[in-house]
Amino acid sequence: MTDPVPAVVLLGPPGSGKGTQAERLRDDGFVTLSTGDLLREARAAGTDLGRQASQYMDRGDLVPDELIVGTIREELGDLDGKPILLDGFPRTVAQADALVGALDAHGRELTAVVLLDVPDETVIERIAGRGEGRDDDDPETVRERMQVYHAETEPLVDYYEERGLLRRVDGSGDVDDVSAGIRAALDGG
Ligand code: ADP
Repeated sequence: MTDPVPAVVLLGPPGSGKGTQAERLRDDGFVTLSTGDLLREARAAGTDLGRQASQYMDRGDLVPDELIVGTIREELGDLDGKPILLDGFPRTVAQADALVGALDAHGRELTAVVLLDVPDETVIERIAGRGEGRDDDDPETVRERMQVYHAETEPLVDYYEERGLLRRVDGSGDVDDVSAGIRAALDGG
């Protein structure tokens, strides 16, 4: 029997630096899958998924679970045998439940969930200052995304803590410090 291929989830509020850190972890041999990037690409390409997701993204709300879970299932099938890093998924308990079966179907197993811990005030300042020009970065939509995070996604902290998978990393330092914290958390098994 072959061992399951590892999968790691990056969890944290909007603006916590998940995308930046996911990029960096590519250098460590991870294939990264960012649902935010996937959805923005789908929207730019005008696919069905992009059209369906657009209205939710613009409001700062989550796209429906069925839509994103179906997308993740397909994407997982397309990846080769490298360890994967999920950025922006799961974001609800229903998505986390669905992830277990989706990984299993592709001979993968969730080995760790890294929580980037950043206070609300810091993420709001970061998003206001980053000037990426994202449609969902205006102050009102950012407030909605924060509320959605606390209501829908934060319950995953307890969910993964109960399953012994959660690793907390201070995400408020500079990018290099946070990367070092993530590597230490993953090496610590
Ligand atoms: P951020 O973490 O900065 O809020 P993302 O780029 O991860 O931004 O996501 C942008 C938007 O894409 C979200 O506000 C949401 O509408 C949608 N989205 C991304 N991932 C998911 C997901 N797993 N479930 C539902 N919606 C998602």
